[in-house]
Amino acid sequence: MFELPSKIKNYINGEIVEPISKNYFSNINPSTGQEYSVVADSDKADVELATQAAIQAFPEWSTLPHQKRFEYLMKIAELIDKKMDYLAYAESIDNGKPLKLAKRVDIPRASANFRFYATAILHYYSQAHINERTSFNYTFKQPIGVAGCISPWNLPLYLFTWKIAPALAAGCTVVAKPSEITPMTAYLLSEIGIEAGLPKGVLNIVHGYGHKVGQSIIEHPKIKAISFTGGTKTGKTIASTAAPMFKKLSLELGGKNPNIIFADCNYDKMIKTTIQSSFANQGQICLCGSRIFVERKIYDKFKNDFVEKTRSLKVGPPLNEDTQIGAVVSEQHMNKILSYIELAKQEDGTILCGGNRKILDTPYNSGFYIEPTIIEGLHYTCRTNQEEIFGPVVTITPFDTEEEVITMANSVEYGLSATIWTENLTRAHRVAHQLESGIVWINTWLNRDLRTPFGGMKASGVGREGGFKALDFFNEDKNICVDLS
Ligand code: NAD
Repeated sequence: MFELPSKIKNYINGEIVEPISKNYFSNINPSTGQEYSVVADSDKADVELATQAAIQAFPEWSTLPHQKRFEYLMKIAELIDKKMDYLAYAESIDNGKPLKLAKRVDIPRASANFRFYATAILHYYSQAHINERTSFNYTFKQPIGVAGCISPWNLPLYLFTWKIAPALAAGCTVVAKPSEITPMTAYLLSEIGIEAGLPKGVLNIVHGYGHKVGQSIIEHPKIKAISFTGGTKTGKTIASTAAPMFKKLSLELGGKNPNIIFADCNYDKMIKTTIQSSFANQGQICLCGSRIFVERKIYDKFKNDFVEKTRSLKVGPPLNEDTQIGAVVSEQHMNKILSYIELAKQEDGTILCGGNRKILDTPYNSGFYIEPTIIEGLHYTCRTNQEEIFGPVVTITPFDTEEEVITMANSVEYGLSATIWTENLTRAHRVAHQLESGIVWINTWLNRDLRTPFGGMKASGVGREGGFKALDFFNEDKNICVDLS
């Protein structure tokens, strides 16, 4: 057990400061439904202060030798590792996810993000184009300026640092906003920034609501690039403001991902991973496979085994060692998920297991828990199968042919990720090529190599993160041509 701060404040110009309005709102622990801290209710004025600090810091930070930026980022990574247990505890309390998941995935990935981009900047290079003896061109990569980084609540520190680390490595200064629903680890990152000796104004973190703080970041004329991860609807709003201002935009949005299971798959590996890809983090991972398509030959067997394994998942308090499914992030989100389960019933779906809120013993009886839920019998075009639910809810649907399953998989507006299970190598690649997804996993799930491009097609986003692509995003290419004649 650790003591967590009771007041989440802003980090501006190297200092922890109150919001100018002095207003705060409640931060709820989803495992108990009780307030456990308060969050700065910042607004445009705080964003202005943060942006001015970032503008001031930019000339020095952007021209610092790569080796120096590497050292700062490595120091942050080391401090995250040193505080691993504390940060994992904070993430679990703030988000409702099982503590052991935060320890295994979220916090290690946050330090990995800093380490990856600290080292990536040392290997970053640009092109030269040489016209024999007549001219010589080289591409000068210039950090774009102040970058705005906005992230969601499902993987709070993991996704926040996935934006901040490449922006800082590239030489940008940053105004960042975490989700107002899960601000705690972002606040603890400010303390780490101070401890790491990060120069003033290089990283600024402003807390508060999306329509106030987020919108002010998007609208600020001096913020040149926006890296956003969140819902598709918010992404649309952001694009409509930022695009006419000619800002650089990276949008990582929602998903409704297919998990395609052929009869010739490695069954044991598939079923074990499918439990993960359906219900990890209470199904609140943008990459979860929420639409499961199963070749008819093995449909009944799959259904029985999958239901049995899902029923045995332990829903419980996030801090308990044996908990596999923790709380969903908020009461509002819980009600949204439950409303989709009701919708599925109206659409003639059959609930094979789960389907309800789960009430735990005190002190967790007001927490936001939902039983992992499997639904069958729905047409692939119905709303339950088309809209993102983002909870521990999956549908299962049989298929007969490759063509049929590709049509069903591609029928949604989203195109983030897909999983294919088959031992037939030719088919695996053939299907992968036809799926409208930015990421396709074959016989695996959430297998991430940070060097690879990450992002979605269609309504799942614009642009790619990961590897040098993120460094490219935070840089502006300038071609410099020298006449050699
Ligand atoms: P959200 O869109 O409601 O909020 C995301 C962030 O945007 C928050 O910080 C919020 O305060 C801010 N925001 C809200 N309105 C804004 C505005 N007008 N201007 C600027 N910022 C604003 O999303 P959420 O509910 O926090 O997260 C869940 C969504 O995120 C799901 O749709 C999920 O699929 C998606 N997601 C996508 C990825 C990916 O990599 N593609 C990863 C994780 C989550």
